[in-house]
Amino acid sequence: MLQVESITKRFGGVVANSDVTFSVQEGQIVGLIGPNGAGKSTMFNMISSVFPPTEGTITFKGQRIEKLPSFQVAPLGISRTFQNLQVFKNMTVIENVMVGQHMKTKTDLLGMASMLLGLTKRERKVYDEAMSYLEFFGLEDLYDQKAASLSLGKLRLLEFARAFATEPKLLLLDEIAAGLNHKETLEMSELIKKVRDSGVTVLVVEHDMDLVMSICDKLVVLDQGVKIAEGTPKEIQENEAVITAYLGADIDESEAEKVGEAI
Ligand code: ADP
Ligand code: MG
Repeated sequence: MLQVESITKRFGGVVANSDVTFSVQEGQIVGLIGPNGAGKSTMFNMISSVFPPTEGTITFKGQRIEKLPSFQVAPLGISRTFQNLQVFKNMTVIENVMVGQHMKTKTDLLGMASMLLGLTKRERKVYDEAMSYLEFFGLEDLYDQKAASLSLGKLRLLEFARAFATEPKLLLLDEIAAGLNHKETLEMSELIKKVRDSGVTVLVVEHDMDLVMSICDKLVVLDQGVKIAEGTPKEIQENEAVITAYLGADIDESEAEKVGEAI
């Protein structure tokens, strides 16, 4: 489904990604992991065409996409969440999901607004669909709450729901479990699997090793922009270069502890 080939990204003197190659098969959950500053978000930014790579190619379903603008990549079926949440805080929960649907249905924003006043048949359908996405993510009771009033855990779910509402073929999740407690992280793992089971291929960037190890079919490990390992969770857990990269990295104690436990 996705082939990343010899990707290099430079920001002035900083080499954020250096000659990185990996692929994602349809139906998989693939984890992109590595210490802070490894180049994970930069890779996501190139796959979702926030900016182009300096060198290399990205092929999605047989089509080269590395030079396409993001408004042309999204309709091909790639959607994402952001490490720094990008929900619309002044909109309600259901309106945020409708923004995701908007990309798919091409209902104009005026249509979306009028929908909230008096529903036409077509608009009613969009509303009902939005509600079913909220149910999928367990957010239905919060549909009329302003996003600003949500907890971090619910905000992460909302951003996930909005990305899912675009009906992507490939979904990129950037630190979707960051800041969540243990119970919320477990629920997130289940949701990611449920999304995969619904037919969406998933690429996750995540620091929570328990989550990554339990849900991913394959892991790709970056360190300082370079791919240092690729394999099943079990293979990665036993990989010397990976252990060294993590334990030698400048990460906080609780993170180090978690990685150590997992490895
Ligand atoms: P990760 O997500 O793995 O923590 P990033 O991809 O965010 O890492 O960053 C990798 C490196 O690229 C870092 O040194 C970071 O400072 C740099 N970087 C990322 N985005 C930009 C940018 N837009 N401009 C300049 N440098 C950037
Ligand atoms: Mg990042």
